[in-house]
Amino acid sequence: MQGKLNVQTENIFPVIKKFLYSDHEIFLRELISNAVDATQKLKTLSTRGDFKGELGDLTIDVKIDSKKKTLTVSDRGIGMTADEVEKYINQIAFSGVTDFMEKYKDSHEPLIGHFGLGFYSAFMVSDKVEIFTKSWKDEPAQHWSCEGNPEFSMEEDKKHTDRGTDIVLHIADDCKEFLEEGTILQLLKKYCRFMPVAIRFGEESVWVDSETDCDKDGKPKRVEKKQPRIINDPDPAWKKSPSSLTDEDYKKFYHELFPMNFEEPLFQIHLNVDYPFNLTGILYFPKVRKTIDPNRNKIQLYCNQVFVTDQVEGVVPDYLMLLHGVLDSPDIPLNVSRSYLQSDGNVKKISQHISKKVADKLEEMSKARVPAEGEKADAATPDPDNSQLSTFNSQLESKWDDIKIFVQYGMLTDEKFCERAMKFYLLKGVDGSYYTLDSYRDKIKALQTDKDKTVCYLYASDAEEEHAYIEKAKAKGYDVLLMDSPLESHFINLLEQKIEKTRFVRVDSDTVEKLIPHDDSIPEKLTKEEKEKLQPIIEGEIDKQKFTVQLESLEESDAPMQVTQSEFMRRYREMAQTSGGGMGFYGELPESYNLVVNINHPLIGRVLNETDAEKQKELVHQLTDLALLANGLLKGEALSRFLKRSVEMI
Ligand code: ADP
Repeated sequence: MQGKLNVQTENIFPVIKKFLYSDHEIFLRELISNAVDATQKLKTLSTRGDFKGELGDLTIDVKIDSKKKTLTVSDRGIGMTADEVEKYINQIAFSGVTDFMEKYKDSHEPLIGHFGLGFYSAFMVSDKVEIFTKSWKDEPAQHWSCEGNPEFSMEEDKKHTDRGTDIVLHIADDCKEFLEEGTILQLLKKYCRFMPVAIRFGEESVWVDSETDCDKDGKPKRVEKKQPRIINDPDPAWKKSPSSLTDEDYKKFYHELFPMNFEEPLFQIHLNVDYPFNLTGILYFPKVRKTIDPNRNKIQLYCNQVFVTDQVEGVVPDYLMLLHGVLDSPDIPLNVSRSYLQSDGNVKKISQHISKKVADKLEEMSKARVPAEGEKADAATPDPDNSQLSTFNSQLESKWDDIKIFVQYGMLTDEKFCERAMKFYLLKGVDGSYYTLDSYRDKIKALQTDKDKTVCYLYASDAEEEHAYIEKAKAKGYDVLLMDSPLESHFINLLEQKIEKTRFVRVDSDTVEKLIPHDDSIPEKLTKEEKEKLQPIIEGEIDKQKFTVQLESLEESDAPMQVTQSEFMRRYREMAQTSGGGMGFYGELPESYNLVVNINHPLIGRVLNETDAEKQKELVHQLTDLALLANGLLKGEALSRFLKRSVEMI
């Protein structure tokens, strides 16, 4: 039979070739998906009793013939009758899957299908495509052939007696790479790695015990043996029931997914939803320490075990992009552009669901206790009523440092997640203990509430550098948190909005008295006139661009001078630096500090009363240098000068 393809194919072929698929390589995914579908359909027919013959070996074969310049995909699935070829192939874009689904609504194996012009994508890389097919029904085999124009031929094929379909691509000259074993192997690994029917391509070497040769100890020699290479794992972990998998299985699967990631994941979430949409998958939490991983494309999207993309930006909420793993859903429309995906209702629901599952998991971990040493593992049962987290080690605590940025990022970018996370978010003290937001507030309320009834949370960004300030705060009985993630300044702002009557102050942002202002003030030892005299003496000796002199009435035992940095200015500078644009103004501000002068300190009295101008200068320099030194701000030449001066003074 000769015929002309339906639809305005003259126009369609060039479209297929050039525009329809940005990646030519997906033709292979399409053809193998069809082969998988045909195989699954046959299995369904067999379980239903419609097909009574032998299923036999259902492995799909992919073969290259470099002499004939062909690439062949063969399956032993249902095949097609002449009518079916006419209907499903000749009438372009008429998807047989729709028909099949209608007929076998209830008991079908999952079908891939719905990739639109699937089969016709073969023309993206071929001059000519042939189909040899024999249906499972008792009807003659067919040979269909088309040279990439609207004309095709179809005739009975007496030679072909085996059930199933061979699709033979005569690869075009400008697509020769698809005749190379390496290229095809790579594509199979990319798109077909977890397809549900075994796929065979080429051979691989394995090392086995020899049956004939022994070494001198009588042990069989190890010999290399060639065997057909199966390129996929038809039964990947995410399709299995979570109860059948151990932690080891999950880790093994992680390394199967990401052979180049050597670090172990921290824990995982196994997704398994049937309703209102269908979604399976495993998401792993990697360690996220100081940086937000720039290498984000670690979530692979599958549709019934067919790889679709690892570019999930916009499909999955931004903070979830930090996770690694697989998502598989037949409900995600896969043959369309990403911008469409982002506005798709199902995709939105799916990403909300994932977000919820992540919050569930973290909440569950915050309630589960880590068994103490010598305790049995099953002692770690969740205790939903226990809100006193700080009294024991929760599972979440043990992983917290590695996932804190992730949680912060989620809270900053996802309102719903934030609400949930307020319950399990952990603050960490400089001494290493963890507290929930509620339990921490209870702990510090009594001592750290200021005269306006605002609870002041003291924190340090670097326990080493701010050591002196931390010690001073501790001496007052205050508690100090360690807040050292790159997102901290944004996050602190968020907490200040979420928790009423709350203020975060870094320990070095003011003198310890003023960090948490109470009503009691210390009597001043200097008169107004004396203060007016003192101010210019000190200002004359410092860099006024960088430092603002602030005379304050502090305890005599406090340091004579201290350097502080305004909480507000510092935090906004940091935020501008980590958010890029929008807050540019703050980012460009020069770094500025306060030089707090303790007017009650005897040494300051000495500065004021010193009559020798040279000696007065020297004293001011020495005191400011000491204050800078305590802050790690005295460096280079200034530091050398200080050391020299100190020796001379002694
Ligand atoms: P889709 O797979 O999206 O339905 P295709 O153009 O890829 O669209 O295929 C059209 C139809 O042709 C399929 O639905 C199926 O009925 C039939 N078909 C394609 N390849 C095969 C095959 N290897 N075995 C049996 N039928 C096939």
